[in-house]
Amino acid sequence: MKIKDKIKKINQHLVRYFGIPSRPKKLPNPIDTVIATILSQNTNDSNSYKAYQNLKQKYDSWEEVAEIPKNKIEKIIRVAGLGKQKSETIKKLLTSLQKNHKNVNLQYVRKMSDEDILKELTSIKGIGVKTASCVLLFSLDRNVCPVDTHVHRTLNRIGLVKTKTPDKTFELINKSIPTGIAHQFHTNLIKLGREICKPGKPLCSVCPLKTDCRFKNKNFEAIKTNTKNNFLLLDSI
Ligand code: SF4
Repeated sequence: MKIKDKIKKINQHLVRYFGIPSRPKKLPNPIDTVIATILSQNTNDSNSYKAYQNLKQKYDSWEEVAEIPKNKIEKIIRVAGLGKQKSETIKKLLTSLQKNHKNVNLQYVRKMSDEDILKELTSIKGIGVKTASCVLLFSLDRNVCPVDTHVHRTLNRIGLVKTKTPDKTFELINKSIPTGIAHQFHTNLIKLGREICKPGKPLCSVCPLKTDCRFKNKNFEAIKTNTKNNFLLLDSI
């Protein structure tokens, strides 16, 4: 079976189990998505959302944030962790937009191709392929599936890919995502990774993919509790 057909089949199982995830009517601005995604690195959605709200409530615009010193940004976003690194990336992004485009927003990327946007955003130190691809999906509604640790782990366990890094998984699957399914595929894989195919022991007995999955160390122990976390940052900013 071709990779495109395999993705289609996995997606059908996931949609049957989790449903079609909702999306906000108005998609967030690209600049909001980049900053929220930078803040989300290595922390949970709740803490990164708090840090994002701290910045948004304190300042009226990203132009204003561009003017404040890096250590002040670091203090405001502390709750998200890695404040030094994240404030440096945010400051770099905002000042580079100010310098090269006069406006501190990313509206100009709307006319660009997926590849050019990825290239443009990842040229800023601290912004990786995952962050850039979140802009493509969550703000520009392009048919692109960002790959974080959950997406990377689940797709490797299922056997769709055999890769060592999320970026390699991204490269392999994104040539073959069937039209119009990227948001549901991405969101449902995150739900699968958080609730069922957890980093430690997966809960294979309740998994909608247990028949097709090729993971050698499936776990069919009885389940005591099943945690649900429905808050997804980038559909909520
Ligand atoms: S069957 Fe188990 S290992 Fe495979 S995707 Fe489901 S939870 Fe993960």
